[in-house]
Amino acid sequence: MVLESKIPVPANSGFGIQNLPYCIFSTYGSELRAGMALGDSIIDLGALAQSGVFDGLHSGIATTLNEATLNNYISLGKEITNAVRLKVQALFSVGNSELSDFEQYLFNKDIVIFHLPIAIGDYTDFYSSKYHAYNVGVMFRGAENALMPNYLHLPVGYHGRASSIVVSGTPLHRPWGQVKPVDATEPIFTTSKQLDFELEMAYVIGKENGLGNPVTTSEAADYVFGFMLFNDWSARDIQSWEYVPLGPFLGKNFGSSLAPFIVTAEALEGAKTDLNTQEPAVLPYLQVDPKSAYDIDLEVIIKPEAGEETIISKSNTKYLYWSVTQQIAHHSVNGCNLRIGDLYASGTISAPEETGYGSMLELTWRGTKPLKLSDGTERKFINDSDTVIMRAYAQANGERIGFGEVATTILPAIANKWEKIK
Ligand code: MN
Repeated sequence: MVLESKIPVPANSGFGIQNLPYCIFSTYGSELRAGMALGDSIIDLGALAQSGVFDGLHSGIATTLNEATLNNYISLGKEITNAVRLKVQALFSVGNSELSDFEQYLFNKDIVIFHLPIAIGDYTDFYSSKYHAYNVGVMFRGAENALMPNYLHLPVGYHGRASSIVVSGTPLHRPWGQVKPVDATEPIFTTSKQLDFELEMAYVIGKENGLGNPVTTSEAADYVFGFMLFNDWSARDIQSWEYVPLGPFLGKNFGSSLAPFIVTAEALEGAKTDLNTQEPAVLPYLQVDPKSAYDIDLEVIIKPEAGEETIISKSNTKYLYWSVTQQIAHHSVNGCNLRIGDLYASGTISAPEETGYGSMLELTWRGTKPLKLSDGTERKFINDSDTVIMRAYAQANGERIGFGEVATTILPAIANKWEKIK
């Protein structure tokens, strides 16, 4: 059956009746509660739940949809949350008259304030685009040894920082840090001159396995509540000096930015595609159903202060070498417990061609080939007052499935408060 939304959905909005992504929102001075995007509106799920429409499903729905994060709602389990989403889909479809006053539950998306929809427990970042890993390898080690020996055998990742993950629209300051210029013998203390984005897709864990209970690749899909567009900011100059031998630290933990919406795994079922061929064959615990990748178009835009947008990269999640199910199986194979509200991210998603590289590091080849914006200015990395915007769309069941956007403006570094310390 083809569903049609009761309220107008602009062409290519990405927020049609098949999508219904979750968010947490407030209006001026109001409490935070859950919402769902439909067309240019946010459906007030908190108020809708209080009206009693979900009463037959579970007694905890009205309470959990009126909390400031979705963690407790997600913990009700997919059987319940899927039923809620299908109920909303029915209520807002043409032909359903159960909710005669449906308009009172709608807010225009331009007047609401979006908040981070989950309290993020642990944040893990993978490194799952082979094209990205190869490019970085070529830059730092040469083409001969571009991929590390482990790369084709396991989804490489590291444990990141959850506290500094912010919602789209939250500005970030250029970070200070310790940097060792290439020609210098000693490090200097400075503001980062190589501030960069990473184009990533993140996902929210929606089920717990318990310590000591690995999740198999065939069980893993059940653990994914939904997907969120993610910009994992990186200060390349800080990162390249600090990362040996334990990996990323202050070059990464000053901020990462999430789009406000969680697109459910169910809405993306129709956007699944074949995972690339994995050669050499992976160990049995990493073997997966071939159809475990997603076809989601991604783009990155730079918007200078008062300037217009320039699209600087177009990529797709299908270029990821490792699937989400392999990442989860690998993450838990040693017994590590996944918790509701954990955020896992793909790593920079670079396309094979240079117009689809997922970071400035690659797009400008470490600053050696500056990008030209539509206003005529050039960028090697991200300037102060630039806004970096990422957008993503999939196509499923004949409808565009949008992820919203993640937009972050870079503010100048804070005043130097260490100058007088000798
Ligand atoms: Mn990253």
